[in-house]
Amino acid sequence: MEPATTSGSATTGTATLPPRDQLPLHVLGTGADPAAERGVSCPGELPPAADPSLVRRAERARATLGDRAFVLGHHYQRDEVIRFADVTGDSFKLAREAAARPGAEYVIFCGVHFMAESADILTSPSQRVVLPDLAAGCSMADMATYSQVEECWEVLEDLDLDSCVVPVTYMNSSADIKAFTGRHGGTVCTSSNAKRALTWALDAGSKVLFLPDQHLGRNTAVLELGLGLDDCVVWNPHLPSGGLDRAALDRATMILWRGHCSVHGRFTARNVAEVRERIPGVQVLVHPECVHEVVLGADQIGSTEKIIATIEQAPAGSAWAVATELNLVRRLAARNPDKTVVFLDETVCFCSTMNRIDLPHLVWAMESLAAGHVVNQITVDPVTAGQARAALDQMLALP
Ligand code: SF4
Repeated sequence: MEPATTSGSATTGTATLPPRDQLPLHVLGTGADPAAERGVSCPGELPPAADPSLVRRAERARATLGDRAFVLGHHYQRDEVIRFADVTGDSFKLAREAAARPGAEYVIFCGVHFMAESADILTSPSQRVVLPDLAAGCSMADMATYSQVEECWEVLEDLDLDSCVVPVTYMNSSADIKAFTGRHGGTVCTSSNAKRALTWALDAGSKVLFLPDQHLGRNTAVLELGLGLDDCVVWNPHLPSGGLDRAALDRATMILWRGHCSVHGRFTARNVAEVRERIPGVQVLVHPECVHEVVLGADQIGSTEKIIATIEQAPAGSAWAVATELNLVRRLAARNPDKTVVFLDETVCFCSTMNRIDLPHLVWAMESLAAGHVVNQITVDPVTAGQARAALDQMLALP
């Protein structure tokens, strides 16, 4: 079956490129670099980041839009953006919040591309979802492309394994991967309900194809379902047959896609040991997208929402080393001055794509909408949206 396509309003065509050493440098959000990223250029005038009137312009545009717009801010967004969010949350909470406001003509999604797609799937056809910078993608979502996943499924079909494999995709995947999952009777999961999703899938079949984050799949299967590490195999989409032979696939309960989050995947067991030495009594709180060794060394594991609740409810004087995106950790530290809250790694690391949404892009998007120009609209075609919705609905129906 042909992949159903999704689209933003900007595309990058092929271009004849100058040699690498002659490629021009582009300030983020200006011009286009067809060698590197999709949709870097914005149609129209992007205000300079140094414009001292940016906050005033944002406030004015927001006031002009009023109830016609609803601004969503993912927890990993910059403070300068979060201050304009009507609601903050993780990706699924935000998509549901958008769906709960059918009166909002424009949903301005301050997050990354797959989140805006989910919002478009869950909102009504009359609502328009806008991503202020189309280059705000997700490296994890990009690690499972539609054609790679279809190839994997064909191998499973050839081995007559498809009837016992249930696909489960993490929320952090593109709409066409969610649609693939819906078409094959699977479900979507979040980091909060991954255990329930896997339990359901292993009741429905004897194996799970888990996309695209191997770490969330492994951590949930081993630490929450009691499977062994040798019940898990990793499907490498860059190798023939995923690098796995028939015997390995027969033995496996979890077929984990070889994807990871570039932010959470960088924490190490050494970081855990170092912070325990540096801050006596510190509690290590990590996201389940971290590698298995890091999760094993932690005191607590939690989704983004659980991390926030844990820090906010912690007693004064307690110390926490948190392994998640740095914007959120900094905000938690600022909001909880009676506790010590540090980033697990001493080297700073933001999610570079989340950070693409900055105040100039938000101002540009809101001013354009206020002037009647819909920019950077994210649309998922109806066939893909319907199939992806089936997988999302299955998640909502999880026991
Ligand atoms: S933090 Fe990781 S999973 Fe989230 S958007 Fe960034 S790269 Fe993707």
